[in-house]
Amino acid sequence: MPLTRHAQFQLLFPDEPAFRWNQIESSFFSSAKNWSEVTAIPSAMRERLSPIPWMSVELVQMQVSKNGDTHKALLEVDGGKEIETVLMKNPRGAWTICVSSQVGCAMRCGFCATGKMGLTRSLISDEIVDQYRFWGDYLLTYNLQPKTFVPLRISNIVFMGMGEPLANYEAVKESLNTLLAHTDLGKTRITVSTVGVLPRLEQILTDQDWPHVRLAVSLHSAIAQTRKQIVPTSYDDFLPKLEDWAKRYLTKFGNRRHHLTFEYVMLKDVNDTPAHAKALALFVNRIGHVRVNLIPYNLTGVEFECSEDSAIKQFLAALEDRHVTTTRRRTMGSDIAAACGQLRDRYKTRDLATCESPATSST
Ligand code: SF4
Repeated sequence: MPLTRHAQFQLLFPDEPAFRWNQIESSFFSSAKNWSEVTAIPSAMRERLSPIPWMSVELVQMQVSKNGDTHKALLEVDGGKEIETVLMKNPRGAWTICVSSQVGCAMRCGFCATGKMGLTRSLISDEIVDQYRFWGDYLLTYNLQPKTFVPLRISNIVFMGMGEPLANYEAVKESLNTLLAHTDLGKTRITVSTVGVLPRLEQILTDQDWPHVRLAVSLHSAIAQTRKQIVPTSYDDFLPKLEDWAKRYLTKFGNRRHHLTFEYVMLKDVNDTPAHAKALALFVNRIGHVRVNLIPYNLTGVEFECSEDSAIKQFLAALEDRHVTTTRRRTMGSDIAAACGQLRDRYKTRDLATCESPATSST
């Protein structure tokens, strides 16, 4: 695991006051392109810092959807490992980015390409933050070309890429605090999505340094047997424990702007029946201020299939009939395999002959 830039700075300059690092960290979010442009610090310090990589991620491959609303990058991190990150146009006329928190994932969700890879390592906070910086640079580069103008603003970040964010708790927390300190993103514009790592969810309740960004729990079923089929690492008593935790979380932090979201990937004949809708509605109504987000499944080639459109509509209506606030996620980037893990998979199997030219290719 590489050392963070901050740790390397502390090794080089153990006696520097804390404000010095803050000056340096601000420069990562400025127009500076390398250490030599960080004019807020003495030139001798810049020289000693120069061996430290300015960016911890490097573009390997880019795919752009035909309609241009989804851009997906395969990035290399230290040790030649690869992660994915996605840029998506959002209804605000700005951009949402989806970031990875680990190389691979240990959670083995049956519907997920990343889950098939297993866990290689967790990312350090710089590697998470630099996915935001990468897309910031990318948008600026596009703006230099009037014909391909895209709005520059990243208005939202979702931690829904490769990896389980709460299995990399400290680095994710550090990245959240860095992003909140140095960008214009507020806490309600960032969502951390978790499969439900209960010890870390408990920690969030009392951790003074955890910034209360939005949380989304990947529920996928309120019936224990079905959830275990979809998320094999699920504990036997996960659902009652999650219910108990969610009630305490909402008592402590819930308000009009702060709710919990349950993500629910729609899998044909697995979790999309009327019995599953009823169980989900009962579960949600016992908890309170929860929204359900139905996700049409967009990956093929594994053991699950996406629910029929009619089944999704019926499922949604059954939840609304029981007064559950429900949304259906827009399907984006299906022509470029935008589900996490797919781009890396295809690249590894050399199935991307049309994507030879990074940042310009379109499939
Ligand atoms: S869905 Fe998320 S938690 Fe589950 S295996 Fe994939 S990356 Fe990991």
